[in-house]
Amino acid sequence: MSPSDRPVLRGERDQARHVVPAGTVSDRDRYDVIVVGAGIIGLSIAWRAAQTGCQVLVCDPDPGRGASWAAGGMLAPVAEAGFGEAALTMLALQAARAWPQFAADLEGATGRPLHYTTAGTLLVAGDPSDREALDRTLAYHVSLELAAERLTTRQARLMEPLVSPSISGGIMVPGDHHVDNRRVVESLIHAASDAGVIFLAEEVAAVTHDAGPTSGVRLADGRQFGSDAVVVAAGSRSGQIDGVAEADQPPVRPVRGVTLRLQADGAPQLTRTVRALVHGRSCYFVPRPDGGLVVGATVEERGFDLAVPLGGLGDLIADARRVIPAIDEYALVEVAPGLRPGTPDNGPIVGPTHTPGLLLATGHYRNGVLMAPLTADDVVTTLVGGIAADGPFANFRPGRFQSGDPGESKPHKAVG
Ligand SMILES: Cc1cc2nc3c(=O)[nH]c(=O)nc-3n(C[C@H](O)[C@H](O)[C@H](O)COP(=O)(O)OP(=O)(O)OC[C@H]3O[C@@H](n4cnc5c(N)ncnc54)[C@H](O)[C@@H]3O)c2cc1C
Repeated sequence: MSPSDRPVLRGERDQARHVVPAGTVSDRDRYDVIVVGAGIIGLSIAWRAAQTGCQVLVCDPDPGRGASWAAGGMLAPVAEAGFGEAALTMLALQAARAWPQFAADLEGATGRPLHYTTAGTLLVAGDPSDREALDRTLAYHVSLELAAERLTTRQARLMEPLVSPSISGGIMVPGDHHVDNRRVVESLIHAASDAGVIFLAEEVAAVTHDAGPTSGVRLADGRQFGSDAVVVAAGSRSGQIDGVAEADQPPVRPVRGVTLRLQADGAPQLTRTVRALVHGRSCYFVPRPDGGLVVGATVEERGFDLAVPLGGLGDLIADARRVIPAIDEYALVEVAPGLRPGTPDNGPIVGPTHTPGLLLATGHYRNGVLMAPLTADDVVTTLVGGIAADGPFANFRPGRFQSGDPGESKPHKAVG
């Protein structure tokens, strides 16, 4: 077994150690794994790791209220497929295939529906130039053998009568689904707690080391907790934890996005996700079974500022009203800003670093909800079984940005 194949965790996992009542965390506690960040990524990892018998501590001052709370919940490997990002699209397709089992397991664990919906996604064009852009997208989808079908305006409106007659046709993407991401986050917190995960509502200041290997974390208030492994899953702030060697720092940056939460209040509703291109700008609509509708999203590079400028919001509302005029009857319930964890090549950063015991699970940018189940499986496999060199994230390991062109995805040379 090469060092890179070895499991990160030492010793046997003991399910009985999970019987640690919530709230009994003390400085003497030692864990198999400490997860930094309780967004959808950190929570999925914590839950899946606890299911294998690991004793897990999750630290987050505000669990579940980061980008994962602002998101729309689209599981859209095809509609999100970007030109020149074939490796990322293949990863996204694999991530989508992990969702049915993940949803069934999580619903089984909590008894609470996630509203995972497989009705497909309708893409529509706002005008003839948007239609040309959508046709180029369709040609790209076809070149990658992705399932997508061109529709006339009439066909699109037969599927979703709320779509404006002024649109210029569309594309049906049957394999792009959606889920209620807020339900997922809340269910993960419950399921993880039930599986024995300890939550600590504190910020991690630093990863600590024991003459080299990772030894745990230090909180902002100075308390320390020991562990065999630390997983940094702090979303857009993953590059801000002290004690992480420069070579291991993930090049993650915040990309602000805002969604609107609307409520139909008896007005007619969509039956599936609708995405639109309007004068070259994208917007989307994700319906909820209770009459809720998520409208998104802006994409802005403004650092860690979560303020919501009226300009970007005004464009989003104007585009949305043009595509689905019926939303004029909907009530505005919430404006939800979040920071996507962006990376230089738009791909996630998942796996072990150069420092033994330190793993990264971050940089999921626009696809963190989609990729959470697959990310959790990969990280837990690394923790308990050793890194799979040809696993789904082989092109998206930490360290790929260190040499050469940061815009190019390179296979990661695993280092244990
Ligand atoms: C407007 C918007 C719409 C989106 N729509 C979709 C979509 O439809 N589909 C999709 O797949 N993806 C979507 N995304 C992207 C997706 O939301 C993200 O990729 C995903 O939520 C990232 O999850 P995360 O757990 O890495 O980060 P987050 O959810 O941001 O969680 C990170 C957590 O780390 C915590 N943290 C930070 N620093 C520390 C520290 N020092 N110590 C302890 N904890 C810390 C934070 O408090 C936070 O809770 C959207 C994003 C936005 C903003």
